[in-house]
Amino acid sequence: MSMRPRVRFAPSPTGPLHMGGVRTALYNYLFAKKLQGDFILRIEDTDQQRFVPGAEEYIIEALRWCGIAPNEGVGFGDGPHAPYRQSERKDIYRQYAEQLVQSGHAYYAFDSAESLELQRKAQEAAGSAFSYNSATRLQLTNSLVLSEADVRQRLQSGEAFVIRLKVPENETIHVQDIIRGDVHVVSSQLDDKVLFKSDGMPTYHLANVVDDYLMKITHVIRGEEWLPSAPLHVLLYRSFGWESVMPQFAHLPLLLKPDGNGKLSKRDGDRLGFPVFPLNWTDPVTGEVSSGYRERGYYPEAFVNVLALLGWHPSDDQEVFSMQELMEKFSLERVSKSGAKFDPEKTKWFNEHYLRQRTDEQLGLALRSLVKNSFGLEEDDPRMTSAFLNAAARLLKDRVQFEHELVVKGEYLFIAPDQYEEAVIAKRWKPELAEVFEAVINAYQAADSFTEEQAELIFKEVAAAHQCKPGDLLQLFRVMISGHGAGVHLFGMVSLLGKQEVIKRLQRALAVLQASV
Ligand code: GLU
Repeated sequence: MSMRPRVRFAPSPTGPLHMGGVRTALYNYLFAKKLQGDFILRIEDTDQQRFVPGAEEYIIEALRWCGIAPNEGVGFGDGPHAPYRQSERKDIYRQYAEQLVQSGHAYYAFDSAESLELQRKAQEAAGSAFSYNSATRLQLTNSLVLSEADVRQRLQSGEAFVIRLKVPENETIHVQDIIRGDVHVVSSQLDDKVLFKSDGMPTYHLANVVDDYLMKITHVIRGEEWLPSAPLHVLLYRSFGWESVMPQFAHLPLLLKPDGNGKLSKRDGDRLGFPVFPLNWTDPVTGEVSSGYRERGYYPEAFVNVLALLGWHPSDDQEVFSMQELMEKFSLERVSKSGAKFDPEKTKWFNEHYLRQRTDEQLGLALRSLVKNSFGLEEDDPRMTSAFLNAAARLLKDRVQFEHELVVKGEYLFIAPDQYEEAVIAKRWKPELAEVFEAVINAYQAADSFTEEQAELIFKEVAAAHQCKPGDLLQLFRVMISGHGAGVHLFGMVSLLGKQEVIKRLQRALAVLQASV
């Protein structure tokens, strides 16, 4: 395709953005970037009843965190089609709704909520469901049946009205979807949807189609839940006479629960212990906080990488993708029809992967504030130098999935242990070994260099001099220094802690172990 695409993400600010919503934004963004097109953020806030304060800000912040940057739209700078918030475009929609009435594709309807409710009840009593459509509309109160004068009079007197689409009878509507293929619907299955409401606001359907037209959208990429609305949208394009510029549709597959059984919901997240939101969300009414990926310590790259693969697959088995690579490789043709199963463990795996890509300096920096908060170390503490922190980060890097785990797994690098793993002590400690460790202390005392290699060499020499196999001593040595039977590279730790600290810890451990027998 030679034309530069223009796509949009068009969320309604009805709450926090769900992972599925972020994926829609991501796919739109990738699609636009790959083809050097434009990506727009449009806020669809015409349903005043469902408006939730703070939701718009949340959406913008979430996109920013993910690195998904619209080049036009609310929060990202105006483009040629401002405003991008539908509540600020109110007047535009009325005019288009009226245009459809003029051309005979829509009509004014004056039926009150109560009278429609009565109709519904009567129909139900007769065993069928009520629908405002080609079969019933001529029995209802609208401009198709009322005289022109009556209609004018009602409008002038300020009577409440809506504008409904006059859906043609028995026409085939063809929706062509890039992902789902061809969908054919007979128009009689559709009801005469309200396009313009009595509160002066358009409905989603009208505003969405009018804005896609005015904003010159070329591709509508959105969640599968909108597929049932697509025939109506096609009909609207047709009614407006905009068929030649109608966007192409691509409906993205559902996100499924980890077991594949149905749609992924916030409840699944709560039950299985993973967030479904990118950021924390505080409910403005109840004050309840739902946790987000950001606050749980996920990197945005990991989150984005996971989302990219929920529905899209590359042609090979590559799994790790930077945003740049995604932009190059993404295509709608490789988005699958079937639902995509979300795997929370895989998300952790991606985080671990990206953590290992971090430099020692980056992780050392993260460690600095973690250590400060967890252990209250002062800035001038020798353990707070970049050299110490970076080396600690290097030792710990392979053992964690999240930055915040660095201080959990690496506590003993900062704080001397006061307990020693009992199982190891029971298995390895013998009183006669005290002499060997005294000799290690003396040899370390005399050492003039304390590199990893040097510390290991000295240890092995002492062990040999006492006819001990180093293998019999090493785990005990580790416990005496760190409190734990397993952990980071042993002599890396010994060298990092430094001669004086290691000697101090050995002496303390010996005192405790000897006293306990
Ligand atoms: N406002 C709709 C939503 O909240 C937009 C659907 C569409 O992209 O057409 O998802």
